[in-house]
Amino acid sequence: MSINFEQLKKLRREIHADPELSGRESKTADKVLEFIRQYNPDDILTQVGGQGIIATWDSGKPGKEILFRAELDALPIEEINTFNYKSTRQGVSHKCGHDGHSTILCGLAQHLNLNKLKQGKVRLVFQPAEENGEGAKAIIADKVFSKFSPDFVFALHNLPGYPLHDIVVKDGTFTAAVNSIIINLNGKTSHAAEPELGFNPALAVSEITKASLTLANNFPEKSDMSVVTPVFMEMGSKDYGISAGKASVHLTLRCWNDENLKKLEDQITQLSEEVARKYSLKVTFEYTQTFHANMNASSATDIVRSSAKNKKMTLVERPYPFKWGEDFGLFTARYEGCMFGLGAGINLPALHNPDYDFPDELIESGVKVFSGIIDEILSAN
Ligand SMILES: [Zn+2]
Ligand SMILES: [Zn+2]
Repeated sequence: MSINFEQLKKLRREIHADPELSGRESKTADKVLEFIRQYNPDDILTQVGGQGIIATWDSGKPGKEILFRAELDALPIEEINTFNYKSTRQGVSHKCGHDGHSTILCGLAQHLNLNKLKQGKVRLVFQPAEENGEGAKAIIADKVFSKFSPDFVFALHNLPGYPLHDIVVKDGTFTAAVNSIIINLNGKTSHAAEPELGFNPALAVSEITKASLTLANNFPEKSDMSVVTPVFMEMGSKDYGISAGKASVHLTLRCWNDENLKKLEDQITQLSEEVARKYSLKVTFEYTQTFHANMNASSATDIVRSSAKNKKMTLVERPYPFKWGEDFGLFTARYEGCMFGLGAGINLPALHNPDYDFPDELIESGVKVFSGIIDEILSAN
C-alpha cells in the first residue's frame, strides 16, 4: 500500500471549491475530520480553539513528541480562476494555499497509518483563523493543549517565486513581526461654513500619515527593516454641511523582531500624540492582527535540512526573512521549531492574488519532507 495522491488531490480541490473565512471553517474541518478518521489516529480532538482539530498517532513507547501544523482558513478575495473546482463562495477563496497545507497533513495521516511509529508520537494540528492572527493563540490557550509538550514543532508555507518543490530554510527569524495600529482622532464637528468653530482632524491625519511613513526603512536585507503601510482611513461623514469631527488612520507595521516592532509602535504613538495636541484633538490607539516573528531554532532547522537532503530535494538558504506575518510565530516562541518554505513555482501568481492556486504537485513533496522530519527525529537513537 502507498499514499493515494489522487485521493489527496481530490480532497484539496473539494476544500478549494468550498472555502471558509477565518473562524468559520466548520465544513472544512468536517471534511478533514472525515478524511483523517480513516487512517487510525490514536486520538482526535475537535473544536480546539474554535474549529481546530488535533490528531495524534502514538507509538505507546517513550520518545519525542513532534507537532505539525496546517491552516484551515481562506481569504476574503474573489477568485478569478475559471477551472472546474473554482470557489463556489462569492468573495471568498483559498489564496494562501491553506487548502494545500491541510491536504499535506492529511497525506501525512496516510503515511502515519502505513508506517507505524516505533517510538514517540506525532500530532497533526489543523489550525483555524491563521489569516487574522487569532488561530494559533486560540489553539495554544485551549485547555486541552496544555496537556501537550511537543519537543519540536514544524510548519511549512508554499512559496510562489521559488522553483517547484524547493525547500527554503533560514535560521532565526523566518517571518516578520507584524502589528496593525488604529489611530483614533477625536475633535469637534461644526457647521461646514464655520470650520474655525470646530476641531477638524484632516491636517492631523495627513501629518501623522506622513511622519509615520518617514519611519519606514523598507530594506529587507537590513536588520533594522521597518515597513509602515497605510491600509485604511476614515474621516467625517458625507454630510456636506458638517465639518469633520473625527477620523481614524489604520497602519500595518512590520519589523524583523518583536523588540524593533515595539520601538516603532512607540515612535508612532508618540508622534501621533504630539500632532493631536497641536490640533486640539484627543487621540486613542488600538491594535489588531498581531503576529509574532517566527523564530526558527537552528536545531529544528537542521532537521529540515537533513530531511530535504535525504529526500533529494533542493535546499535553498534564504538570506533574510519574509516580510509577511504568520501566526506560527506563537508556536516557535514557545517550542523548539521551524517554519520553512516549499517552492510553488517561479511563475505562480503571488499569495493573496486573485489568480493564485495551490499546485497539487506540492502535496507529494510536502508529505515527503514532513515524513523525512519524522524519520530524522524518531529513528535516531
Ligand atoms: Zn495568507
Ligand atoms: Zn498562509
